[in-house]
Order: sequence, then structure tokens, then C-alpha cells
Amino acid sequence: MSGASSWLLRGGTLVPVDSHAPLGRGDLLILDGVIAALGVIPADDLRLVGVPVLDVTGCVVLPGLVQAHIHLCQTLGRGLADDLPLLRWLSERVLPYESALDESDLTLAAQVGVAELLLSGTTTLLDMGTVRHHDALCEAVAKTGIRATLGKAMMDYAETVPLGLREDPQASLREADALCARWHGRGRLRYAYAPRFLVSCSDELLRGVAERVNQHSPVGPGIHTHASEQLDEVALVRARTGQDNVLALRDRGIAGPRTVLAHCVHVSPDEMAHLAQDGTHVTHCPSSNLKLGSGIAKIVQLLAAQVNVALGADGAPCNNRLDGFAELRLLALLQKGVLGPEALPAAQALQIATMGGATALGLGDQIGSLSVGKRADVVVVGQHAPGQLPEHDPVSLLVYGTQGSDVRHVLVDGELLVKSGELQARTGLDVERLRAHCTERMPPLLRRAGLR
Ligand SMILES: [Zn+2]
Repeated sequence: MSGASSWLLRGGTLVPVDSHAPLGRGDLLILDGVIAALGVIPADDLRLVGVPVLDVTGCVVLPGLVQAHIHLCQTLGRGLADDLPLLRWLSERVLPYESALDESDLTLAAQVGVAELLLSGTTTLLDMGTVRHHDALCEAVAKTGIRATLGKAMMDYAETVPLGLREDPQASLREADALCARWHGRGRLRYAYAPRFLVSCSDELLRGVAERVNQHSPVGPGIHTHASEQLDEVALVRARTGQDNVLALRDRGIAGPRTVLAHCVHVSPDEMAHLAQDGTHVTHCPSSNLKLGSGIAKIVQLLAAQVNVALGADGAPCNNRLDGFAELRLLALLQKGVLGPEALPAAQALQIATMGGATALGLGDQIGSLSVGKRADVVVVGQHAPGQLPEHDPVSLLVYGTQGSDVRHVLVDGELLVKSGELQARTGLDVERLRAHCTERMPPLLRRAGLR
């Protein structure tokens, strides 16, 4: 059997993130985009006939990273909103920038973001778009081959949303319904309704989202929002609702196994218990939380409360990188800085960056580990840089010693999207061309946004 989605990865060190699969030297057989076997595969195995071989000797093979909170639309705002707290960061820089984006800008922002994500080993993302032109973002992402769940940002609350981005709640819901009908389940894309955060959304909008998601089957669209990122935001929510953020969202139907809440830095033990009881997922964004001075999320306590936790880089203006390996390292180190060196061992951190994200997206049975029968979303990390030597413990190396630039190959559904550190033609992404487009498009965008 042969084809663009069948491969034999020969001679690597496998880190399957699956307690039933062996960790150690071995091969990975992918047939028609699905993991068919892993371990030592004899050369006379009949399934290998006609399957191209990718030599990964001396490399570590792991499931693709899943980032469950990204803002692709913000990629062109990298470096435009530094050194500000969340609410000023939003009102003074990010919302004026998002208001000015046209379809071509959104396409370019998505392409630059996905190029960075693929090259650094992320194979699946959950994205919050902006209010307008969401089709352009979906089209751009679909062409690259990355796996993505996307939703247009929804914002309608008159007291907090600037006029240029403020929506009518029913019009916003109708537009999201139409986008969901067009994109959910199309190729590698899925849809998640994305009310931005409680501060920018009316109760009518939030309840409308909850009703829609509850009407769908368990494989239907999800919900993606922000919650309890910063104390000023928590105070605004309390002033409006009299409740803590997670509980206020919950009362409006925004909770449950198809809901992903980004951040949850400032949540009480009571909120944690409700997150666990409802099966609501939390995405931790460590770099963003540090850069915006938001605080350090209590990840160990959330895990102890049985909350599923995923990882995400958030957006380029608040990170300013989308490298999942940088987030993975910081995830582990921050918890140790607060709780001591035994907190959050490397294997647990890697689990969050892969299976945690897959579970949050409702894709835990399809991706997130190297397991026979799962889709072949695979990353190969090369041990060519001195900082990757020597290899004592591959899990330690991945969590503490790897950066995105160490990624050699990336496959999604068995399709090779990055080979030897280069984006392949299949992605339609060319870094030099993206650079030229950025140079051309940034001055008019910044003028329209009033930022230069
Ligand atoms: Zn965010």
C-alpha cells in the first residue's frame, strides 16, 4: 500500500503518551492516515509493501501537540500590544486592530499563524476568530492541512464592546449558525461557538449559544470562551452578575463536556468543583498569563479536582510566540516554582499538551496519542542540536529540553506537512512569501486601526 498518507517512520524513539503502548526504540506504521502499528516492525511485514520510509533514526516521535486556545486573527498584531494589562491591552490595542482587519488581512494572519504552529509541532488547534469575515479565516486554515476547531468571536454587550465590533445578539447567533453549517465537519475543520468572554457578551447571546450546542449530538459543535483570566475582569463579572465567573457562565448554560474555558487563573475551590462536576475543560495559557500579568493558574489543584486541562499559546500579541513546546516547558516550570520541584512531572505535562487538548476538543478517541487506530497526527523531533544531547529520557527531553525549532517532521492524518524543518507545498505556505505580504499589508492595516 502506498500514498501520501501512508508512511513507515523507521528507527525512532517512540513517546506514545498512551499507557498501553511501548515507550522506546521502534517504528511507526501509518496506513491511509491511520496509525496501524508501532514498536519493532519486521522488514518482511506484508503491510510495508509499497509504503514509503521516513528514516527517523536518532529522533523522538510523539503525538502532535494540541493547542486548545489560539487567536489566529491576532497574528499580525505580534508586538503591537506589549506591556499592558488585559483590559487596556484589549481596548487600546487589540480591539482597534481586530476592527480594522479585512478578509485579506485575516487570510494572511491565519497563514502566518499556522506556518508557525506547524513548524513548531502543533497539529491541532482551537481558535477564537474575530467578529467579521470568519469564512476567510476558515478557508485559509482549511487549505494548510492543520486540524482546527474554529469559531467567530461573538460580542454584543453595549457597555464594553466598541461600536465597530458590537453585534446584535440574534444576528450574531444567526451568522454563527451559518458558519457552523458551512464548516463543522468539513475536512479537518470543526466549529465551536465563541462568545468572547462574559464581559463582552449579553445573557441573551450566551443563552442562545448554550441552547444551540445542547441541541446538537455529542459530535456537534462546541463552545469556546475566556474566563477568570484577570482580577479586573473577575470584578466586572461580579459587579454585573453578583457571581464568580465560572458560576455566572454556568448559570447561563456555558458549561459541560463540550465547553472549553481559556485561562481560569482566578477560580475558587467551589468553581473548580463545578468545572469537574460538569466536565468543563480548562485551557492553560502560561506565557500569556505571565506577559499580561494575570497570575499563575492553579493547574495542580485543577487536576487534583479532576478537571481536564489543555494547553494553549493564546494570541501573538500576548505571548508573543505560538510555539507549543515553549508553553509545555513553562506549564511544568511554573507549577514547580509555586509548589516545589515534585509538582507536575514531565510525563503529566506532556499528557496535558497532547491528550488534554484532544479531550477538550472531543477528539480524545481520534488524536492526542500514538495509538493503533487513531489518526496519524505525528511530530518528529530531531536530536541534531547540541541542546538535545545526550538522550537519557525522551520525555524529559521533550518537556524541558525541546523548542519548536527542534521539530523535523510533522504529519496530520498521515500527510507530511513539514519535512526536515520545511513547510511542504501541500500546505500552500511559503515563509518568504508571507514575509513579503506582511511588509506590504501592515502599513495600511495599522493606519486603518489608528495604531501608527
Ligand atoms: Zn485568548
